[in-house]
Amino acid sequence: MAFPQDEAFRYANQRTVFRTIRHAGSTTRRQLTQQTDLSFQTVSNIVSELFDMNLVVSDGLVNQSAGKRAESIKINPRGLYAVGILLDRTGFELNLIDLEGNSLAHTAESSSSIHPDTVLRHIATLTQEFLKQADVPLSRFAGLGIASPGPIDFRYGAISHPPNFPGWAFVPVQQRLNELMNCPVTLIKDSHAAALAEVWALNAEAPSSLFYLYFSAGIGGALVIDNRIWTGFLGNAGEIGHVKVAQEPACDCGRQGCLESVWSLGRAASNANLSVEQFAQLLQTKTSPHWDQWKPGLRFLAQATVDIVNVMEPEVVIIGGPQGEAISGHVIPTLNSALQQGGFVRHLRPISVQNAVVRPAASIGAGLLQINASLTTSTRSSGQVGLDI
Ligand SMILES: [Zn+2]
Repeated sequence: MAFPQDEAFRYANQRTVFRTIRHAGSTTRRQLTQQTDLSFQTVSNIVSELFDMNLVVSDGLVNQSAGKRAESIKINPRGLYAVGILLDRTGFELNLIDLEGNSLAHTAESSSSIHPDTVLRHIATLTQEFLKQADVPLSRFAGLGIASPGPIDFRYGAISHPPNFPGWAFVPVQQRLNELMNCPVTLIKDSHAAALAEVWALNAEAPSSLFYLYFSAGIGGALVIDNRIWTGFLGNAGEIGHVKVAQEPACDCGRQGCLESVWSLGRAASNANLSVEQFAQLLQTKTSPHWDQWKPGLRFLAQATVDIVNVMEPEVVIIGGPQGEAISGHVIPTLNSALQQGGFVRHLRPISVQNAVVRPAASIGAGLLQINASLTTSTRSSGQVGLDI
Protein backbone atom coordinates (compact mmCIF):
# COMPACT_ATOMS: atom_id res chain seq x y z
CA MET A 1 0.00 0.00 0.00
CA ALA A 2 1.29 3.43 -0.86
CA PHE A 3 0.53 6.77 -2.47
CA PRO A 4 -1.52 5.88 -5.57
CA GLN A 5 0.17 6.55 -8.91
CA ASP A 6 -3.04 8.05 -10.34
CA GLU A 7 -2.53 10.90 -7.85
CA ALA A 8 0.67 11.93 -9.63
CA PHE A 9 0.93 15.12 -11.66
CA ARG A 10 -1.07 14.61 -14.83
CA TYR A 11 0.45 17.38 -16.91
CA ALA A 12 3.61 19.46 -17.07
CA ASN A 13 2.10 22.75 -15.85
CA GLN A 14 1.29 21.17 -12.48
CA ARG A 15 4.96 20.29 -12.07
CA THR A 16 6.00 23.78 -13.15
CA VAL A 17 3.74 25.51 -10.61
CA PHE A 18 4.72 23.10 -7.83
CA ARG A 19 8.43 23.63 -8.57
CA THR A 20 8.01 27.41 -8.66
CA ILE A 21 6.35 27.35 -5.24
CA ARG A 22 9.15 25.13 -3.93
CA HIS A 23 11.84 27.47 -5.26
CA ALA A 24 10.10 30.55 -3.88
CA GLY A 25 9.40 29.08 -0.43
CA SER A 26 6.19 31.06 -0.18
CA THR A 27 4.41 32.87 -3.01
CA THR A 28 1.04 34.20 -4.22
CA ARG A 29 -1.02 33.26 -7.26
CA ARG A 30 -0.18 36.61 -8.88
CA GLN A 31 3.58 36.11 -8.33
CA LEU A 32 3.26 32.59 -9.78
CA THR A 33 1.62 34.09 -12.86
CA GLN A 34 4.63 36.37 -13.35
CA GLN A 35 7.15 33.61 -12.64
CA THR A 36 5.63 30.95 -14.91
CA ASP A 37 4.16 32.84 -17.90
CA LEU A 38 0.88 31.01 -17.27
CA SER A 39 -2.40 32.93 -17.12
CA PHE A 40 -3.82 33.89 -13.73
CA GLN A 41 -6.79 31.58 -14.33
CA THR A 42 -4.53 28.62 -15.19
CA VAL A 43 -2.37 29.25 -12.10
CA SER A 44 -5.47 29.50 -9.90
CA ASN A 45 -6.85 26.23 -11.26
CA ILE A 46 -3.54 24.42 -10.73
CA VAL A 47 -3.14 25.81 -7.21
CA SER A 48 -6.62 24.48 -6.40
CA GLU A 49 -5.58 21.07 -7.73
CA LEU A 50 -2.41 21.15 -5.60
CA PHE A 51 -4.54 21.98 -2.55
CA ASP A 52 -6.80 19.02 -3.38
CA MET A 53 -3.72 16.79 -3.64
CA ASN A 54 -2.57 18.06 -0.20
CA LEU A 55 0.78 19.07 -1.69
CA VAL A 56 0.48 22.77 -0.78
CA VAL A 57 -0.99 24.71 2.15
CA SER A 58 -1.90 28.32 2.87
CA ASP A 59 0.87 30.48 4.34
CA GLY A 60 -1.44 33.29 5.45
CA LEU A 61 -2.27 36.61 3.83
CA VAL A 62 0.26 39.11 2.50
CA ASN A 63 -0.18 42.73 1.48
CA GLN A 64 -0.34 43.44 -2.21
CA SER A 65 -0.50 46.77 -4.02
CA ALA A 66 -3.42 49.16 -3.43
CA GLY A 67 -4.04 47.78 0.04
CA LYS A 68 -5.28 44.42 -1.26
CA ARG A 69 -4.32 41.23 0.52
CA ALA A 70 -3.57 37.93 -1.15
CA GLU A 71 -3.10 34.38 0.04
CA SER A 72 0.46 33.08 0.16
CA ILE A 73 1.03 29.42 -0.67
CA LYS A 74 3.81 27.04 0.39
CA ILE A 75 4.68 23.36 0.08
CA ASN A 76 2.92 21.11 2.57
CA PRO A 77 5.73 19.11 4.17
CA ARG A 78 3.18 16.53 5.35
CA GLY A 79 1.88 16.08 1.81
CA LEU A 80 4.09 13.12 1.02
CA TYR A 81 6.66 10.94 2.79
CA ALA A 82 9.33 8.48 1.73
CA VAL A 83 11.97 6.32 3.33
CA GLY A 84 15.50 6.64 1.98
CA ILE A 85 18.07 3.95 2.69
CA LEU A 86 21.82 3.98 2.28
CA LEU A 87 23.28 0.50 1.96
CA ASP A 88 26.90 0.35 2.91
CA ARG A 89 29.59 -2.28 3.14
CA THR A 90 29.32 -2.19 6.92
CA GLY A 91 25.63 -1.60 7.50
CA PHE A 92 22.78 0.63 6.49
CA GLU A 93 21.19 3.95 7.33
CA LEU A 94 17.46 4.64 7.18
CA ASN A 95 15.83 8.04 6.94
CA LEU A 96 12.13 8.93 6.99
CA ILE A 97 11.71 12.20 5.10
CA ASP A 98 8.84 14.52 4.27
CA LEU A 99 8.02 16.40 1.07
CA GLU A 100 10.53 19.13 1.92
CA GLY A 101 13.33 16.61 2.38
CA ASN A 102 13.39 17.08 6.17
CA SER A 103 14.58 14.07 8.14
CA LEU A 104 11.82 13.02 10.57
CA ALA A 105 13.47 9.88 11.89
CA HIS A 106 16.87 8.38 11.31
CA THR A 107 18.74 5.26 12.33
CA ALA A 108 22.03 3.66 11.37
CA GLU A 109 22.83 0.00 11.94
CA SER A 110 25.86 -2.13 11.48
CA SER A 111 25.27 -5.36 9.57
CA SER A 112 28.60 -6.59 8.30
CA SER A 113 28.68 -10.02 6.63
CA ILE A 114 24.97 -10.63 7.09
CA HIS A 115 22.99 -12.26 4.30
CA PRO A 116 21.16 -9.78 2.02
CA ASP A 117 17.77 -11.38 2.71
CA THR A 118 18.22 -10.82 6.45
CA VAL A 119 19.24 -7.20 5.92
CA LEU A 120 16.36 -6.47 3.53
CA ARG A 121 13.81 -8.06 5.87
CA HIS A 122 15.18 -5.99 8.72
CA ILE A 123 14.95 -2.82 6.60
CA ALA A 124 11.31 -3.65 5.77
CA THR A 125 10.47 -4.15 9.47
CA LEU A 126 12.20 -0.93 10.51
CA THR A 127 10.42 1.00 7.75
CA GLN A 128 7.02 -0.25 8.97
CA GLU A 129 7.96 0.79 12.52
CA PHE A 130 9.07 4.26 11.38
CA LEU A 131 5.82 4.81 9.48
CA LYS A 132 3.79 3.70 12.47
CA GLN A 133 5.71 5.83 14.99
CA ALA A 134 5.48 8.95 12.79
CA ASP A 135 1.81 8.25 12.08
CA VAL A 136 2.30 8.38 8.31
CA PRO A 137 -0.90 7.48 6.44
CA LEU A 138 -0.10 4.84 3.79
CA SER A 139 -1.98 6.93 1.22
CA ARG A 140 0.74 9.60 1.69
CA PHE A 141 3.70 7.19 1.62
CA ALA A 142 5.61 7.42 -1.66
CA GLY A 143 7.74 4.31 -1.08
CA LEU A 144 11.41 3.45 -0.62
CA GLY A 145 14.50 4.81 -2.30
CA ILE A 146 17.71 2.77 -1.96
CA ALA A 147 21.17 4.25 -2.38
CA SER A 148 23.96 1.72 -2.79
CA PRO A 149 27.62 1.56 -3.76
CA GLY A 150 28.08 0.71 -7.43
CA PRO A 151 28.17 -0.94 -9.79
CA ILE A 152 24.38 -1.11 -9.99
CA ASP A 153 22.05 -1.95 -12.84
CA PHE A 154 18.99 0.21 -12.50
CA ARG A 155 17.20 -1.63 -15.31
CA TYR A 156 16.77 -4.50 -12.84
CA GLY A 157 17.16 -2.56 -9.60
CA ALA A 158 20.12 -4.77 -8.72
CA ILE A 159 23.55 -4.23 -7.22
CA SER A 160 26.18 -5.78 -9.48
CA HIS A 161 29.60 -6.69 -8.01
CA PRO A 162 30.49 -4.00 -5.49
CA PRO A 163 34.03 -4.49 -4.14
CA ASN A 164 34.09 -5.78 -0.55
CA PHE A 165 30.33 -6.30 -0.54
CA PRO A 166 30.20 -10.12 -0.40
CA GLY A 167 26.91 -11.85 -1.07
CA TRP A 168 25.30 -8.88 -2.80
CA ALA A 169 26.20 -9.66 -6.43
CA PHE A 170 23.07 -9.34 -8.59
CA VAL A 171 20.71 -9.31 -5.63
CA PRO A 172 17.48 -7.79 -7.04
CA VAL A 173 17.20 -5.30 -4.15
CA GLN A 174 14.40 -3.32 -5.71
CA GLN A 175 12.21 -6.35 -6.40
CA ARG A 176 12.83 -7.98 -2.98
CA LEU A 177 11.89 -4.82 -1.08
CA ASN A 178 8.93 -4.26 -3.34
CA GLU A 179 7.68 -7.77 -2.46
CA LEU A 180 8.35 -7.30 1.25
CA MET A 181 6.79 -3.84 1.49
CA ASN A 182 4.22 -3.87 -1.32
CA CYS A 183 5.20 -0.33 -2.28
CA PRO A 184 7.25 1.29 -5.07
CA VAL A 185 11.04 1.07 -4.71
CA THR A 186 13.83 2.78 -6.68
CA LEU A 187 17.58 2.10 -6.69
CA ILE A 188 20.30 4.71 -7.21
CA LYS A 189 24.06 4.86 -6.69
CA ASP A 190 25.01 6.39 -3.31
CA SER A 191 27.00 9.31 -4.75
CA HIS A 192 24.19 10.18 -7.17
CA ALA A 193 21.64 10.18 -4.33
CA ALA A 194 23.85 12.50 -2.28
CA ALA A 195 24.14 14.94 -5.19
CA LEU A 196 20.35 14.92 -5.65
CA ALA A 197 19.87 15.80 -1.98
CA GLU A 198 22.34 18.67 -2.38
CA VAL A 199 20.61 20.05 -5.48
CA TRP A 200 17.24 19.84 -3.71
CA ALA A 201 18.53 21.58 -0.56
CA LEU A 202 20.24 24.39 -2.48
CA ASN A 203 16.87 24.80 -4.22
CA ALA A 204 16.76 27.89 -6.44
CA GLU A 205 20.44 28.58 -5.59
CA ALA A 206 21.68 25.20 -6.88
CA PRO A 207 24.41 25.51 -9.53
CA SER A 208 23.18 24.06 -12.81
CA SER A 209 26.37 22.02 -13.12
CA LEU A 210 28.59 20.55 -10.43
CA PHE A 211 30.92 17.68 -9.70
CA TYR A 212 30.15 15.99 -6.39
CA LEU A 213 33.01 14.15 -4.68
CA TYR A 214 31.67 11.43 -2.40
CA PHE A 215 34.01 10.23 0.36
CA SER A 216 33.21 7.00 2.18
CA ALA A 217 35.59 4.04 2.46
CA GLY A 218 36.17 4.57 -1.26
CA ILE A 219 35.82 7.64 -3.47
CA GLY A 220 32.82 8.14 -5.71
CA GLY A 221 31.43 11.02 -7.69
CA ALA A 222 28.37 12.44 -9.40
CA LEU A 223 28.09 14.72 -12.40
CA VAL A 224 25.24 17.24 -12.36
CA ILE A 225 24.70 18.69 -15.83
CA ASP A 226 21.86 21.13 -16.56
CA ASN A 227 20.29 20.42 -13.16
CA ARG A 228 20.17 16.66 -13.76
CA ILE A 229 22.45 13.85 -12.65
CA TRP A 230 24.26 12.25 -15.53
CA THR A 231 23.76 8.67 -14.32
CA GLY A 232 25.44 6.80 -17.14
CA PHE A 233 23.69 4.04 -19.08
CA LEU A 234 23.13 1.69 -16.14
CA GLY A 235 23.51 4.20 -13.28
CA ASN A 236 27.25 4.25 -12.58
CA ALA A 237 28.72 7.47 -13.97
CA GLY A 238 31.21 9.59 -12.01
CA GLU A 239 33.55 6.84 -10.76
CA ILE A 240 36.53 9.06 -10.01
CA GLY A 241 37.83 6.35 -7.66
CA HIS A 242 38.65 4.23 -10.71
CA VAL A 243 40.55 6.88 -12.64
CA LYS A 244 44.13 5.67 -13.12
CA VAL A 245 46.67 7.86 -11.32
CA ALA A 246 49.66 5.49 -10.90
CA GLN A 247 51.11 2.24 -12.23
CA GLU A 248 50.10 0.22 -9.14
CA PRO A 249 48.83 -1.26 -6.83
CA ALA A 250 46.05 -3.57 -8.02
CA CYS A 251 42.55 -2.22 -7.49
CA ASP A 252 39.48 -4.25 -6.46
CA CYS A 253 38.01 -3.42 -9.88
CA GLY A 254 40.74 -5.40 -11.64
CA ARG A 255 42.87 -2.53 -12.95
CA GLN A 256 46.19 -1.24 -11.63
CA GLY A 257 46.81 2.13 -10.03
CA CYS A 258 43.22 3.44 -9.65
CA LEU A 259 42.89 6.45 -7.34
CA GLU A 260 40.97 4.34 -4.82
CA SER A 261 43.73 1.73 -4.69
CA VAL A 262 46.48 4.35 -4.27
CA TRP A 263 44.70 6.62 -1.83
CA SER A 264 41.43 6.06 0.00
CA LEU A 265 40.22 6.20 3.57
CA GLY A 266 39.22 2.53 3.48
CA ARG A 267 42.66 1.35 2.44
CA ALA A 268 44.49 3.65 4.87
CA ALA A 269 42.17 2.71 7.75
CA SER A 270 42.60 -0.98 7.16
CA ASN A 271 46.42 -0.58 7.05
CA ALA A 272 46.17 1.20 10.41
CA ASN A 273 43.78 -1.43 11.80
CA LEU A 274 41.11 1.18 12.41
CA SER A 275 37.55 1.72 11.20
CA VAL A 276 37.10 4.32 8.46
CA GLU A 277 35.27 6.59 10.93
CA GLN A 278 38.07 6.32 13.51
CA PHE A 279 40.71 7.01 10.89
CA ALA A 280 38.87 10.04 9.47
CA GLN A 281 38.44 11.46 12.97
CA LEU A 282 42.16 11.08 13.68
CA LEU A 283 43.01 12.96 10.49
CA GLN A 284 41.16 16.01 11.76
CA THR A 285 44.09 16.77 14.01
CA LYS A 286 47.22 17.12 11.95
CA THR A 287 49.18 15.75 14.88
CA SER A 288 47.92 12.23 14.22
CA PRO A 289 50.72 9.78 13.34
CA HIS A 290 48.67 8.81 10.27
CA TRP A 291 48.58 12.35 8.92
CA ASP A 292 52.08 12.33 7.43
CA GLN A 293 51.38 9.09 5.58
CA TRP A 294 47.98 10.14 4.31
CA LYS A 295 48.65 13.70 3.23
CA PRO A 296 50.97 13.06 0.24
CA GLY A 297 48.23 11.00 -1.42
CA LEU A 298 46.02 14.08 -1.71
CA ARG A 299 47.93 14.96 -4.88
CA PHE A 300 46.48 11.86 -6.59
CA LEU A 301 42.97 13.01 -5.70
CA ALA A 302 43.85 16.47 -7.03
CA GLN A 303 45.22 15.02 -10.26
CA ALA A 304 42.05 13.01 -10.98
CA THR A 305 39.75 15.90 -9.97
CA VAL A 306 41.47 18.40 -12.27
CA ASP A 307 41.10 15.96 -15.18
CA ILE A 308 37.38 15.51 -14.54
CA VAL A 309 36.84 19.26 -14.07
CA ASN A 310 38.63 19.91 -17.37
CA VAL A 311 36.39 17.40 -19.13
CA MET A 312 33.05 18.67 -17.79
CA GLU A 313 33.77 22.27 -16.64
CA PRO A 314 31.30 22.37 -13.75
CA GLU A 315 30.43 25.57 -11.90
CA VAL A 316 31.62 24.15 -8.59
CA VAL A 317 33.08 21.04 -6.98
CA ILE A 318 31.25 19.84 -3.87
CA ILE A 319 32.81 17.76 -1.10
CA GLY A 320 30.36 15.33 0.52
CA GLY A 321 29.69 11.73 1.46
CA PRO A 322 29.77 10.16 4.93
CA GLN A 323 33.41 11.20 5.54
CA GLY A 324 33.41 14.40 3.47
CA GLU A 325 33.10 16.75 6.40
CA ALA A 326 35.86 15.03 8.40
CA ILE A 327 38.47 15.47 5.65
CA SER A 328 37.24 18.57 3.81
CA GLY A 329 39.60 20.82 5.78
CA HIS A 330 42.48 19.07 3.99
CA VAL A 331 40.81 18.33 0.68
CA ILE A 332 39.41 21.80 -0.14
CA PRO A 333 42.70 23.78 -0.05
CA THR A 334 44.50 21.04 -2.00
CA LEU A 335 41.87 20.94 -4.74
CA ASN A 336 41.59 24.74 -4.91
CA SER A 337 45.31 25.04 -5.38
CA ALA A 338 45.43 22.23 -8.00
CA LEU A 339 42.58 23.81 -9.98
CA GLN A 340 44.33 27.19 -9.89
CA GLN A 341 47.42 25.56 -11.35
CA GLY A 342 45.92 22.98 -13.72
CA GLY A 343 42.33 24.04 -14.43
CA PHE A 344 41.89 24.72 -18.14
CA VAL A 345 39.70 27.79 -17.46
CA ARG A 346 41.82 29.12 -14.57
CA HIS A 347 42.53 32.42 -16.37
CA LEU A 348 38.79 32.98 -16.93
CA ARG A 349 37.24 32.09 -13.60
CA PRO A 350 37.93 30.18 -10.40
CA ILE A 351 36.18 26.82 -9.95
CA SER A 352 35.31 26.87 -6.29
CA VAL A 353 35.44 23.78 -4.10
CA GLN A 354 32.93 23.82 -1.27
CA ASN A 355 31.39 21.67 1.43
CA ALA A 356 28.06 19.93 0.90
CA VAL A 357 25.21 21.40 2.94
CA VAL A 358 23.20 18.17 3.39
CA ARG A 359 24.26 15.43 5.79
CA PRO A 360 23.53 12.54 5.77
CA ALA A 361 22.86 13.14 2.12
CA ALA A 362 22.59 9.77 0.33
CA SER A 363 19.65 8.39 2.33
CA ILE A 364 17.78 11.71 2.03
CA GLY A 365 18.52 11.85 -1.71
CA ALA A 366 17.25 8.29 -2.19
CA GLY A 367 14.00 9.23 -0.44
CA LEU A 368 13.65 12.37 -2.58
CA LEU A 369 14.13 10.29 -5.73
CA GLN A 370 11.21 8.10 -4.68
CA ILE A 371 9.02 11.11 -3.86
CA ASN A 372 9.87 12.51 -7.28
CA ALA A 373 9.09 9.18 -8.95
CA SER A 374 5.71 8.94 -7.26
CA LEU A 375 4.66 12.41 -8.45
CA THR A 376 5.87 12.07 -12.01
CA THR A 377 4.53 9.49 -14.40
CA SER A 378 7.54 9.70 -16.68
CA THR A 379 9.85 6.72 -16.38
CA ARG A 380 13.57 7.28 -15.87
CA SER A 381 15.25 7.90 -19.17
CA SER A 382 18.52 6.15 -19.72
CA GLY A 383 21.50 8.28 -18.80
CA GLN A 384 20.02 10.92 -16.58
CA VAL A 385 17.85 11.45 -13.57
CA GLY A 386 16.66 14.60 -11.90
CA LEU A 387 14.16 16.05 -9.53
CA ASP A 388 11.40 17.03 -11.88
CA ILE A 389 9.16 18.35 -9.14
ZN1 LIG B 1 39.68 0.50 -9.82
